[in-house]
Amino acid sequence: MQYKISRRAVVKGGLIAGALVPAMGMLANTAAAAGLPPLDPNDPTAKALGYTTDASKVNASANPTYKPNQKCATCAQFQGKAGDASGGCNIFAGHSVVQGGWCKVWAQKPAA
Ligand code: SF4
Repeated sequence: MQYKISRRAVVKGGLIAGALVPAMGMLANTAAAAGLPPLDPNDPTAKALGYTTDASKVNASANPTYKPNQKCATCAQFQGKAGDASGGCNIFAGHSVVQGGWCKVWAQKPAA
């Protein structure tokens, strides 16, 4: 039995596969972040770095580097996307942090 595959079918298949690969990667990233357990503020490392789930409640006198506009969502270490409620953090690998959280390692996310 012989199958004839047209050039059009090959090109069409390639275009579909090319479109699906990035979409699958995005889904995998979202699923990976969604599967991360939330970081416990009482975790020893989190405590040492002053992690809180609510940046608006940071004690500014105890954390002189803190500025009111700082939160995980604007931090270079935050791995979530804009609008995500939480996401991974490069500092706290294996855990998710709240987008409105904060810790002493905060550093401005570069402009996109
Ligand atoms: S390093 Fe940045 S993203 Fe991670 S917990 Fe601290 S402020 Fe949030």
